[in-house]
Amino acid sequence: MNDEQFLLDVMLGKLATYLRLCGYDTVYALDEGMEADDALKQYAESEQRRLVTRDRELATRTDGALLLETRDVADQLAELVAHGIPIELPEEPQRCSVCNGLVRTLGDEEQRPDHAPDDIDPIWQCRACEQHFWKGSHWERMGNIVGGVGEPNHNSL
Ligand SMILES: [Zn+2]
Repeated sequence: MNDEQFLLDVMLGKLATYLRLCGYDTVYALDEGMEADDALKQYAESEQRRLVTRDRELATRTDGALLLETRDVADQLAELVAHGIPIELPEEPQRCSVCNGLVRTLGDEEQRPDHAPDDIDPIWQCRACEQHFWKGSHWERMGNIVGGVGEPNHNSL
């Protein structure tokens, strides 16, 4: 289980999507309307979330913060791995990549979304924002990126 909880700074929206897909409870600052450094520091410390930021000054003065040096999301994921944070896609999605809500599997008897391909199964729905998800090309693309950084010892596979 990925039990670490994160707060991501405003520049890291893309990384927030990946961390949620990897099952991490991830709050993205802009989703919460937080932009000021002090607001981020206070939220991270009071909610005991690990702040991830590219702002060195903010990282220095926030308890437990993790400073990222790179801009590319694949590089940022690799930085997290280097910091001892496992990055891998779970068998099934656990969190909504859009809002961080927990997802559930849609039952056979439930209405499928109109835009879902007929041969797709299972489908998941976010308990919070009710958006539907399934494993499509997007999931595979992310899996390729995550797979490239998450298991440095298995690159030959
Ligand atoms: Zn959602």
